[in-house]
Amino acid sequence: MRFDVVTLFPEMIEQTARCGVTGRAIETGSVRLAVWNPRDFTSDRHRTVDDRPYGGGPGMVMKVQPLRDAIRSARAEAPPGAKVVYLSPQGRRFDQAAALAFAECPGLILVAGRYEGVDERLVETEIDEEWSIGDYVLSGGELAALVVIDAVTRLLPGVLGDAESAQQDSYMDGLLDCPHYTRPEDIEGRHVPEVLQSGNHAAINRWRLKQALGRTWQRRPDLLDKRELDGEQLRLLEE
Ligand code: SAM
Repeated sequence: MRFDVVTLFPEMIEQTARCGVTGRAIETGSVRLAVWNPRDFTSDRHRTVDDRPYGGGPGMVMKVQPLRDAIRSARAEAPPGAKVVYLSPQGRRFDQAAALAFAECPGLILVAGRYEGVDERLVETEIDEEWSIGDYVLSGGELAALVVIDAVTRLLPGVLGDAESAQQDSYMDGLLDCPHYTRPEDIEGRHVPEVLQSGNHAAINRWRLKQALGRTWQRRPDLLDKRELDGEQLRLLEE
C-alpha cells in the first residue's frame, strides 16, 4: 500500500513513520511512503502557502494553488484508485472500521492542513473524503495523518507477525481486548490469574472471551448494542 502525505512538515511524518511497526513495513516494502511539501509548489521568493481570510478575522488560510499542485503531483504517482483524504476536525470520525476499509485501498493521499485550515474550494475540487481523529482541534493534520498510517499499516497482510496479530485487538470483532500479563507471576502480592498458567487452552480461551465481554460491557456498552452475541457469549456475560 502507498501513502502520500501532503504537509508543510514532511520531516514530522518521515521521522515518526520510521519507528516501530510502520518503520518495519516501509523497510520490508509492505508500505511505500512519500511526502509532498506545498512550499515546493510555490513560485514567489517567500514560498508563500497561506494568506489572510476573506471577511477578516484571526489566523491565516492555506492557499489553493500550492496545495492543489502538490495533491495533483501525488495523484500522478499514486496507484489508480488512491483516495485523497483531508484530515479535518469536521470530518467523519476515524475508527477501526474505517481503518479496515482504508486497508483495502491501493493508496491514500493524506492532506494535512495548518493555520485555520484550507480554502474551501480546495476541499470541493480535490478532496474525496474528510476524516477526523476525534472531537478536538490539533494545530495541524500531521498527527492525524500518522494515526491513520499507523492504524491502517498494522492491518495490512504480513505486517504483523502471528505473535502480534491484530485479530485479537480491541474493536476487531466489536469487543475490547482481554487483560494481558507477563512474568513475574507475583508483583507485590498481585498474582496472574491461575487459569492462564493452567495450560488448558479451552479454559484460557473461555476466560479471555469472558474478560473481553465483561470489559466491553463495563467500559463500552455501546459496542455490545451493535453486536449480536451468540449463546455461549450471552452465558459468559451473565455468569
Ligand atoms: N479552524 C479549523 C476548525 O475549527 O475546524 C481548525 C483548523 S486546525 C487549527 C488546523 C489543521 O489541523 C486542520 O486543517 C486539520 O488538517 C488539522 N486537524 C485539527 N484537528 C483535527 C482533527 N481532530 N482530526 C483531523 N485533523 C485535524
